[in-house]
Amino acid sequence: MKPSLSTEIKYLKGVGPKRAEALNSVGIHTFADLLDYFPRKYIDRANMMKIEDIKVGDQVTIIGQVEDFNLKSNRKGFGGRFELMLTDDTGRLQLVWFQGAQWVKNAFEVGETIAVYGKVDQFGYFKQIAHPEVDRLDSEESDNFIHTGALIPLYPSTEFLRRMSLESRGFRKLIYPILDMTSEFQETLSPEIILAHQLLPLSAALRQIHQPITQQNRLKAEERIKFEELFYLQLMMAIRKKSIQSPKGIPFTERVTKTKTLLAKLPFELTAAQKKVIREIYNDMLLPRPMNRLVQGDVGSGKTIVAVIAILLAVENGYQTAFMAPTEILAEQHYFVLQELLWELGVRIALIKGGQKKSERESILEDIRTHQVDIVIGTHAIFQERVEFEKLGFVVIDEQHRFGVMQRAEIRQKAVAKGFHPDVLVMTATPIPRTLAMAIYGDLDISIIGEMPVGRKPIKTAVRNEGAREKIYAFLREQVTAGRQIYIVYPLIEESEKIDLKAAKEAFEELQTKIYPDLRIGLLHGKMKSAEKQDIMAKLKKHELDILVSTTVIEVGINIPNASVMLIEHAERFGLSQLHQLRGRVGRGSDQSYCILMVGKKFLMEHTEIRLNVMEETTDGFQIAEEDLKLRGPGEFLGTKQSGLPELKLANIIWDKDLMALARTSAFDLIEKDPQLRAPQNSMIKEKFERLFREKIFLGDVS
Ligand code: ADP
Ligand code: MG
Repeated sequence: MKPSLSTEIKYLKGVGPKRAEALNSVGIHTFADLLDYFPRKYIDRANMMKIEDIKVGDQVTIIGQVEDFNLKSNRKGFGGRFELMLTDDTGRLQLVWFQGAQWVKNAFEVGETIAVYGKVDQFGYFKQIAHPEVDRLDSEESDNFIHTGALIPLYPSTEFLRRMSLESRGFRKLIYPILDMTSEFQETLSPEIILAHQLLPLSAALRQIHQPITQQNRLKAEERIKFEELFYLQLMMAIRKKSIQSPKGIPFTERVTKTKTLLAKLPFELTAAQKKVIREIYNDMLLPRPMNRLVQGDVGSGKTIVAVIAILLAVENGYQTAFMAPTEILAEQHYFVLQELLWELGVRIALIKGGQKKSERESILEDIRTHQVDIVIGTHAIFQERVEFEKLGFVVIDEQHRFGVMQRAEIRQKAVAKGFHPDVLVMTATPIPRTLAMAIYGDLDISIIGEMPVGRKPIKTAVRNEGAREKIYAFLREQVTAGRQIYIVYPLIEESEKIDLKAAKEAFEELQTKIYPDLRIGLLHGKMKSAEKQDIMAKLKKHELDILVSTTVIEVGINIPNASVMLIEHAERFGLSQLHQLRGRVGRGSDQSYCILMVGKKFLMEHTEIRLNVMEETTDGFQIAEEDLKLRGPGEFLGTKQSGLPELKLANIIWDKDLMALARTSAFDLIEKDPQLRAPQNSMIKEKFERLFREKIFLGDVS
């Protein structure tokens, strides 16, 4: 049988069951998937250099032969360094690895040809590249390349793939023989759009992305594929926006009397920025059109009170509010803050949380159903369950960067099912550049609280290593003696959850028994029961604890104004924005606050210190987010995997912002003209959209 695009990959010549399994692990199941697996970069002869010509500091590409290599263990016998000598006909270059040496040592053969990229250093007598990127070439390929000057594509690989000899070379061998099949792909953009933007047809783009003859070809192919990715992303935004532009929104026109009482009772004056944002929200809420607004404000800028004032308007108009927080701890904190602010005004608030007795939970749910409560606070997971409102008119989502776009739609649906089109207010402390905001919050209007309350002292931040530990412990004691409280945070990532948790627990033991036996220390981590967590947080709040040892569960939102020191262990393992969030837990009172970033092993210092220095230099969340984005790329920065956004394989929301603007205009225009994508010439777009997002309902909603 002649293979087609949908033929299983195991039937491809050269694959078989084992390799098929490896390919499956990166999402390649069919011939089509393989052709959809794009190179991560190319070796271009125009950028290639000879070893004798390279200079220290250059970013270079070199092709050469492996002359020799060896693994040098270090004192403790673990890790060590791996050195490889590379030659071409003009000289020798040393390659060196400090990490992952055990793996690298099995990756090469003496005499083979490899391509190398990286930044040139001088090390003693030799020029050297540390941690270069390398790619193995067939001698045939390298000859070919050197003589024809074509571009060689390099494919992303994983350890599993490499074990099956599926590095770039392996991929090229599989892909080249089936390149003609690219002509079988169905076009996914309309002729009108292709023409308007002078794009390549899909089939040509796919072919050229795998086998470009010139750089220009490659760029054209990439442009087409990137445009398409961004177009569908923006199409989702356009459809979302359209689908909530219902004229059936709630006009919250009732005059507010309780807000005056609330404002009079606040111990502070609202900042000008808070007032501006409240006006923007009010304007939206007055209109009979559902609000969909994002409030961005750095940690500590005072988003909660802004939300409370908006909620009060909804309550006074006789509607219920759902207030979603990313964690239980935060939900509970919001509950206490709102209680304190609103109970005198007769506003009824309920908290739903894990660990509540069944009867208790049932009675709360009943109160919500019968409108005995005005505001319901809980985590997203809780709202997903059977919470049924009598009259849900307002939704607040705190710290949205933790949630997906999808959840926003879900909670809205709860109200729509009852015939209400609620106003939605989303709050985030992750300040993101405009283009990025457009990509991920493209269906939201944006308000910015660009000012901090007066009287806050900037937090003093310092990067320190083990050598300073004793001094730091002495400093912490001074702070506790002065009546302050302290956070000590340990990293915890999924891959090494067990080890990380153990480290945090051990540190807690040691602090409690050896370092500060006389102080009151608490431990908080995600694996604890709700009730235990709540207990610890309550103690902290009541100043029955001096020090809280915690994993990153305290990252967002926690507000203990008396806490003055944030000590972060293994700071090198956190992203900058995450560090900024953590640091935002202190500096909330009038005392001077401190953030200490402890970094681990010596050899890590050079790299991480540069990165972490940004934290010492600025407390501006925007600047930190920009740095973080540059360092980690938008995918990791946003955790796009969980966010419900489609994965972008080639397009980059930061670098390709011009293309995104084009794609956005194109998508929004299309939805303006053909909101349901009914026109025959748009059928392929509708089809691909539904396949991509599995989201027919939204198109169905448009009227
Ligand atoms: P975030 O924006 O990080 O969610 P919060 O809303 O938790 O910040 O506010 C942080 C702290 O600042 C709270 O203790 C809050 O009462 C206080 N706050 C809010 N607005 C002001 C203001 N205008 N002036 C002084 N303090 C304020
Ligand atoms: Mg907050």
